[in-house]
Amino acid sequence: MTNTEFQSDTLQRFIFDNAPVRGEWVHLQDSWQQVLKRREYPVAIQRLLGEMMAAAALLTATVKIDGRLVLQTKSTGPVSVMMIECTSDNTLRAFAQWDGEIKDDASLLEITGEGSLAITIEVEGAKQPYQGVVSLNEDSLSSVLEVYFKQSEQLETHIWLASNQNSVAGLFLQQMPGDKADEDQENWSRINQLAATVKQDELLELGVGTLLHRLFNEEECRLLVSTELSFACSCSRERVAATIHLLGKKDANDLLDEKGKIEVACEFCNEHYQFDSEDVSQIFSEAELANFESKTLH
Ligand SMILES: [Zn+2]
Repeated sequence: MTNTEFQSDTLQRFIFDNAPVRGEWVHLQDSWQQVLKRREYPVAIQRLLGEMMAAAALLTATVKIDGRLVLQTKSTGPVSVMMIECTSDNTLRAFAQWDGEIKDDASLLEITGEGSLAITIEVEGAKQPYQGVVSLNEDSLSSVLEVYFKQSEQLETHIWLASNQNSVAGLFLQQMPGDKADEDQENWSRINQLAATVKQDELLELGVGTLLHRLFNEEECRLLVSTELSFACSCSRERVAATIHLLGKKDANDLLDEKGKIEVACEFCNEHYQFDSEDVSQIFSEAELANFESKTLH
């Protein structure tokens, strides 16, 4: 594994001063390695999961929210679920579940089967999350996402994604509403033709300055703010205890009788949490006590 010579795990926004077009570039290395070291994925799934991770970062940057954005496939398989979460605290986590053998060069449809991609945006304090769903019936994840933007925002959007063992990366261009229809359309198609020359290797190996100069040196492309991203998982022993409490005392005790302990592994970070009979009885006695206190106090 080689280290990049530029700042990775970064999302960089940019705009064009000569056209109503905005862009984003993302490159993830350490956060991607954090995902890979927790589970060994078949090559094709790893590639798609990496692309989804880059895409989640790009999409999160388009919505200015406090909360989180989740990309999740629901499909008939061989992959049963792929999930990426990106938070407004600039953290990412990801995992996939699958069954059976998948060949290295499997296409999107060969990996997922019939299915859909759900884009869920949860805003802190909001009662209902926003959810958009698009069919996975396309050649690539970037095409699926372009359909999503067309449906949900009616904005022309192009996305390029790349993923390998070392890093994942993505480039995003979106046409902003402008006032000169013909000229805007011309600018949009010219800038897209330039961007479409980007190679996978360039996305994965070049820093944002070098890449944008190579693609858009004849345009007035200007860098805006950049954001650092990192891997983080929000699971904890307390959260698992709360889930066991939700199971109910009887089901929890049945599990204990069966296995001697309750073991729960976090899908995202693969952390294993173990609860023996003493831990479990404590979960329920603390809850009963809290319940008793709230009843007597009010
Ligand atoms: Zn976790």
